[in-house]
Order: sequence, then structure tokens, then C-alpha cells
Amino acid sequence: MKRILIFFGPPGSGKDTQIDLLSKKTGWKKISTGGLLRDEIALKSKLGKQVEKCMKTGDLVLDKLLINLVSKKLKQKVKGFIFDGYPRTMGQLKDLLSIFKKYLKKNDQVLSLLIIVSDKEVKRRLSKRRICACGAVYHLKYNPPINNNVCDICHKKLFIRNDDKPKIIVNRLKIYHQNSEPIFDYWQKQGKLIKINGEQPIAKIHKEITQRLKSVNQLIS
Ligand code: AMP
Repeated sequence: MKRILIFFGPPGSGKDTQIDLLSKKTGWKKISTGGLLRDEIALKSKLGKQVEKCMKTGDLVLDKLLINLVSKKLKQKVKGFIFDGYPRTMGQLKDLLSIFKKYLKKNDQVLSLLIIVSDKEVKRRLSKRRICACGAVYHLKYNPPINNNVCDICHKKLFIRNDDKPKIIVNRLKIYHQNSEPIFDYWQKQGKLIKINGEQPIAKIHKEITQRLKSVNQLIS
């Protein structure tokens, strides 16, 4: 039986951090469309060239460009998957449900989880977010690197993600609210939406997530 967890939350809600913690605990594999698209840009692939401009402004990439990326990942033989940043529109939700129909078995379990953080807090957090080319994410106040501006894991220099700049953040939040709310409604109506307060310390949020997953038999140990 496979477990599928679809993570939602605004940019800067701490999704990445929580997904990494949960993925380490469970062995469930992360499927991040943002990460996959950034890989394509780095590879200078045809898809990478198509999406580069969109990503710079924080706008959404066309739904049809994501279906193959997601389906390919879902074919992997693992215990479970955690979706990060997908689906982001009702069209993508429709695509995902048909992908599930094709690749999932009857007893595979699908659940979604929403991390709630206010816009004000998002703006405050993203201005202090720093990332590394290896994928590590830091926050200068809440989760700082040991050495100033250097990654703890690979020791490379940290940088600010282009789309974490203030003007872009406002655009990303607008898009998030416009597109995501109907998707939450869908999962809520299915009785498959867990809501978590994301304005708490990292460890407390992780504990709450694991407790809530255990309470619905999604997490065994
Ligand atoms: P993220 O790393 O999830 O914040 O995504 C960064 C950027 O990648 C977004 O601002 C979009 O331009 C693009 N992107 C990632 N996931 C999606 C998606 N599901 N639909 C459309 N665009 C996406």
C-alpha cells in the first residue's frame, strides 16, 4: 500500500522544511514541481527554456507542461510520495486525479495537509530565507546556518531565491490565494484535509503533523 500526502501552504510556510523532516522519517519521496522545474532550467532543456520567464516573475507555468514531469515521478517504486507545490490550480487537480487513477491501486491512501501562515508572516519570513544550490533551505533567524552565509551540508555560499524578492512575493501570494482555495475545498469535502498552524516552532509543527497522520492511520511508527 502506498501513502500519498499532498502538502499545501503559501510560499514561505515552512513546507520544504516539514516535507524534508517527514520524508526522512517515513522514506516517502518528495515530488516538488518547483524543484523539478528548477532542475530543467539548470539543464537548459526545452522545458527549462519554456518555463524560465514564468518562474522569474512568480507566475504559474502552464498546467499541460507539468503532467509528464509528475507522472514520471509517480512511477517510482517507493512506500509513498509527498507532493510539494502541486496541484496549484483546479486544472492541475483534475490532471492529478486522472494520474492517480492510472497509477494508484485501490488500497493506496491519499490525504492532503495545509500549513496555515498569514500573508504578513510570509513576507517577514521570505525576506530572510536563504537557499543553497544543494537544496538546503535556511532562515537567518529561525534556522540559521552555523557559519554566516555558508551551507552547513556542502559549505557552498547561500543565496536569495530570485522569486523571494518582495515584489515577486506579493504576486506569488495573490496567485496562491486565487488558485488554491477551491483545491482545499475539494479535499475538505472529501474529508481528506488536515490543517496545521504553521506559525509555531519547526519541531512543534513536525510533531503535530506526525500525530495527526497517526490519528488517521496514515503513519505507522
Ligand atoms: P515553488 O518552488 O513551489 O515555490 O515554485 C517556484 C515556481 O515554479 C512558481 O512560482 C511557478 O512559477 C513554478 N511552479 C512550481 N510548481 C508549479 C505548479 N504546480 N504550477 C505552475 N507553476 C508551478
